[in-house]
Amino acid sequence: MTVTPEQAGGGCATCQGTGWILDDASGGRVARRCHCLLDLRRQNLLDRARIPRRYRNCTLANFDALNDSLRHALKIARKFVKDYPAPDVGLLFIGPCGVGKTHLVAAVLQELVLKKNVFCVFTDFRDLIREIQSTFSPDSVISESDVLAPVFQCEVLVLDELGAKRTTAWVEETVFYIINHRYNNKKMTLFTTNYPDTEAEEDSRDTMYKKGGDSLVDRIGVRLRSRIYEMCKVVEMDGDDYRKTVKQAGYRF
Ligand SMILES: [Zn+2]
Repeated sequence: MTVTPEQAGGGCATCQGTGWILDDASGGRVARRCHCLLDLRRQNLLDRARIPRRYRNCTLANFDALNDSLRHALKIARKFVKDYPAPDVGLLFIGPCGVGKTHLVAAVLQELVLKKNVFCVFTDFRDLIREIQSTFSPDSVISESDVLAPVFQCEVLVLDELGAKRTTAWVEETVFYIINHRYNNKKMTLFTTNYPDTEAEEDSRDTMYKKGGDSLVDRIGVRLRSRIYEMCKVVEMDGDDYRKTVKQAGYRF
């Protein structure tokens, strides 16, 4: 839902809440948008991006790139924002817990919203699956299409913690459908995952129970992994535990 300047209180002294300013130009009066309308649009976009509260202060400028792999990841994130909408592939950040993958993707989304007015949506893989599953319940007040609409429609989607929850074949099918739909519509998706990728071309899971190893392919299946590889540049991030190092560096004894 978009808020208008009037609904926001109309307190703007520049335009008296109309959202427009009339300038006297040589050929007559010219209307232009007031800054308050632009600020409001940006705020609406930021709200729709649903960046989790703990990541809202994450920027590319305050990302601590403590080693070469993190500096490389930051450079790629910066380039993605700078070049957007030109990039024709998204990004898949792979690395252990604590290296700052979520910080980086949250920062990319914020910059795309604030600098380029892009409609972005942040989703956590586990939350998305939970939301899809909750719509299967007969007394659910929201439908699957309500859950999926922003995920399909946004220009740039973050899918954080890919593979962090084991899924059923049905949910796996839904996730493939979402990702494939975005791929076919040339929409960018940014993924993060803790699961290392191996060269394995097959998942080692038991077909009935989908239990198996802990590589990316074991968690999301062969088909989804190969689709993601077609639509993303892979960026590996490694290092000492990022949060621990930064936090410890902040302590003074
Ligand atoms: Zn105004």
